[in-house]
Formats: sequence, structure tokens, C-alpha cells
Amino acid sequence: MIGEPVDWPTRDLVAHRAAATPQRTALVDTETGLEWSFREFDRRVDRVASALEAVTLDGSDGEGADSQRIALLMPTRPAFATVFFAAMRTGATVVPLNVRETTGELAAKVERTEPTTLVCDGSTEDAAREIAVKIESIDSAEPEPIDLRSVDEPGCDRVRSLLPSDSIAASDADREWSRAVEPVPLERGDTQLIMFTSGTSGEPKAVRLTVGNLVASATASAFRLGVTPTDRWLCCLPMYHMGGLAPVIRSVLYGTTVVIQREFGAESTARVLADDDVTGVSLVPTMCKRLLDAGWEPTDALRFVLLGGAPASSELLERCRDAGVPVHPTYGMTETASQIATATPAETGTHEGTVGQPLLFTDVSVVDETGATVEPGQQGELVVSGPTVTPGYLDDEKTAAAVDERGLHTGDVGYEDDDGRLWVLNRRSDRIVTGGENVDPGEVVAALRTHPRVEDAAVVGLADEEWGERVGALVVPEQPPDSDGDDPLEPRSVRAHCNEHLAGFKRPKTIGIADALPRTTSGTVDRERVRDRLLEAGTDVTDSA
Ligand code: ATP
Ligand code: MG
Repeated sequence: MIGEPVDWPTRDLVAHRAAATPQRTALVDTETGLEWSFREFDRRVDRVASALEAVTLDGSDGEGADSQRIALLMPTRPAFATVFFAAMRTGATVVPLNVRETTGELAAKVERTEPTTLVCDGSTEDAAREIAVKIESIDSAEPEPIDLRSVDEPGCDRVRSLLPSDSIAASDADREWSRAVEPVPLERGDTQLIMFTSGTSGEPKAVRLTVGNLVASATASAFRLGVTPTDRWLCCLPMYHMGGLAPVIRSVLYGTTVVIQREFGAESTARVLADDDVTGVSLVPTMCKRLLDAGWEPTDALRFVLLGGAPASSELLERCRDAGVPVHPTYGMTETASQIATATPAETGTHEGTVGQPLLFTDVSVVDETGATVEPGQQGELVVSGPTVTPGYLDDEKTAAAVDERGLHTGDVGYEDDDGRLWVLNRRSDRIVTGGENVDPGEVVAALRTHPRVEDAAVVGLADEEWGERVGALVVPEQPPDSDGDDPLEPRSVRAHCNEHLAGFKRPKTIGIADALPRTTSGTVDRERVRDRLLEAGTDVTDSA
């Protein structure tokens, strides 16, 4: 229709790709070795869409993406991507669930998001049944299998839907095929995804992401990182987090290949990076460090390592430079469909610690307590706006608390330079106020890391009668110790080091030693658990000690 504005993409991304580049490789699974072209992927998406339609759209009012929700309880695997795009094809919203959570936690999320269908696989079927029993709205009668045999992925015959229990006719003979499900027309404002945040600062929040958010994120990322037709993006982060799902969505939009590794492992991932012609990978800093510890040497094919989700220490960045890792420090969040800002390898050399400039069309302002923009170099809360930013959380109150006319208040504290390069320092909620003085936990962590025997540290505020809060530090010793016969690292030696490097009010008063820092599944330090450990097993240290 000439003259009518048309939304793009007009249909699900796999349908577009199957038309444009049917022969290119869409997806590779490192575990089974399977490899699907976009045409083959399209066919599988169609089969699943047809199965989903039979169970979910029965009796629906056909209102579009917001009307049907499909919860997806499945580990990272090709079927996850297949169900995601099949849902997109039928116009349903996907709610990925974290397979590492307890059934109690999962049931609470299912209750909050009210999906019409819960899709699981063989590995999560028991958990899905338990959840179904806990949720009143789910008919926990014997679930009917969705017939996914034609997905041709080992284990897919056991992918099931628990709600509702309409039976689906098996249909496996379809050599010659035409689509059973015509892709629904997409609108950019449709909610395509409800993704939970990592829950670093409290209960995970349910974030609505639209088709427009996802496409804008993929587009802006391509402007920063570039795309070549031979790209192969390794996905070894969980697909139920944005960092894992984003490469899948992007690769399909770009017509490039996503290489799926079901679980990260230092040695196995280093091998995949070397042997599978990987050109890009998304990692959190702990993974990157573990790869380097395992002796990983990047190949010439590797164009970018997106390093985000948590701050990267200057030591890690230095090691990356020395090893020739094309590292792109990145700041992102679930609420912005992943990347907000990304630095280039060159920038990390000239502007230490920066996460670079915001992506194209994304605006970041740094504001003070009153909401006024501060000068370059001054710290403040980062407020982000642009086409990748969520229209809001499922919970309207949470949306009202975080979003105003400036944009989304990230809760992160940072600053920018005159060229708009960003530095992320800490979260507003991580600020420690002790005896009326503000302490930046990041500064204390940096000082602790200069101790020759300290590998890593986390710094939190602990409730204190006298000071309001006192500084607590959980310290991970260098492993293995650099010389044999060394005494174990003592809190007192850590404190003595701090006495030399930090002003009195910044010095940790409670210090604990641990083998590793407790982390959330996306790699951020779990500060609540750090606090618990310090309260349970920390040593109180003072200057006189
Ligand atoms: P929750 O919102 O439930 O507390 P979360 O914020 O950890 O969990 P995510 O959306 O996975 O959930 O993580 C986004 C956050 O991670 C950012 O707001 C920021 O605090 C942190 N982060 C991401 N990248 C960086 C980075 N490069 N440097 C510092 N912090 C980062
Ligand atoms: Mg957050």
C-alpha cells in the first residue's frame, strides 16, 4: 500500500532471512555438531510455531504479541532459539526463565508473568511439573507433548508444553513442505520478550522488550562492531539472559551464524574459539579471565570480544592487551536489550577503564540528585534514553520509580569525558556512607587488588551502630599462592596494606577471606551473599591490630 507507513521487520526475522539468504548457515551446535541453514531453521520454526499455535492460540482473541505469553524453561540449546522465533512467528511474547533457579523462585516468576504456556525440555520437565502443581492457573494434568520431532535436535522429542492440554497430532512426514503457520505481521511496539534482570540489587525485575527495542539494539550494535557475511558469533552465556539471547537475535537479523555452546568452560570454550572460526563472542569478565588462565590465545579470525555485565579490572584489560584479545569493554543492561556503550580495543589503551561512547541513537546523561545534568568529569547517575530502552517493567510502580521524561534511571554511577566516553563506577545502592562520609566500593576494591597476594575483592557496607555503616571486604587470595610454604593470607595483612593506601574512613573494618566471590548467573557480584559471608565469618580488624 503506497503511502502507508510500514513497520519493519514486517515478519519474524527467520522468515526474512529464509527469503533472503536461505543457504547460509544460521546456527551451529558445538555439542551435537548440528548445523542448520536459514531454510532449515525456517522449517523447524514453522513446525514449532504450528505446535505452539495449536496449544496457545486456541480460543484466543488474536490481539497480537501481548495477548499470549510463552514461558520458556530450557537451558541454552538450539531448541531455545527455535521456540523463541516460533513464538515471534505466532505473535506471542516469550518469557525466558533461569534454569538454575529453584522451582519456588520459578513458580513466583510464572505467577507474576502469567504465561499461557510453559515450554520445557527433558532436562527441565520435572521442574516444570513441580511449578505447574504450584500454580493454580496451570492445568497440571498429564501434559501433552508438543511434537517437536521434526526439529531434529537430539532430545527435542521431549520438549513439552504444560498448558493447556490440547492434544497435537504428530506430523513427521514433510519432505516437501510449505509453511503451516503464516508469520504474523509484526509491529515495533509489540512486546516480544519479557526478560528478567539478574537480581543483583534485589528481586529480579520483569522487563518488557519490544520488537523495536530488539531490532534497534541489533542495528546499533552492528554500527559499532561491523558485520561481515562470514561472521560467527559464539553464544556461551545463558540464553535466558540478554547477553546470551542478543547474539542469537542479531545473527538472524544479520544473516550470519550463531555458534551455540551450551555451557561455558575455560578449556572447552578456548577450543571452540580456536576451532569453530569464531569471529565474535560475548563474555563476562570472570569468563575472560578464566580463558586467559587456561592459556587461551585468540585466533586471527576473532574480530571482537564484547566484555560486559560487570566492571573489567585494569589488570584483566592489561592481560587482554598482552594476549592480543580484541576486547570491547561494554556497558549494558537488560532494560536496554543489552549494550548501552561499547569501547574499541584502541580506546581501552588510550582511555583506561572506559566503556566507550553510547551506541548510535542511544543517549546517556549524567545527573545529580536533583536530576540536573552535571559537567563532564563529574560523577552522577547514568540516565539512558533511545530506541533500545524498555517501555517499562511489568510492574507499573517499578516503571514509575525508574523512568521519567529524561529516560531510564539506571541506578549506576559514572561519569563522561568531553567526547562522551563513559566510565561506570558502581551502583547507587552500593554507595557506602560511613560516619557521614561517602565511600566508593570500587576505589577500595582497586586498592585491595594492589596487594601482591590479593586476586579479587568485593566491598560492601555493613550496618554499624556507631558509624551507620562500616566498610566490609571479602578478599580472594591469589591462587595458587606464588611461593610454596606461604602462610595463608591474613585479614591483618590486608588491613595493613589498606592503612598505607586508603584514608581512614575508607579502610575495611571487617575482612573475610574466600576462595571465590559469590556471583549471580550473569557474573555480577552477589552483594547480599558477600554481606552474609562477612557477617558470618569476617574478622573485625582495627588499626591497633
Ligand atoms: P538487577 O537489576 O535485578 O539488580 P542487574 O542490574 O545485575 O540485576 P542486568 O540487567 O543483567 O541485571 O545487569 C545490568 C547491570 O550490570 C548494569 O546496570 C550495571 O550495574 C552492571 N554492568 C553492566 N556492564 C557493566 C560494566 N561494563 N561496568 C560496570 N557495571 C556494569
Ligand atoms: Mg539492574
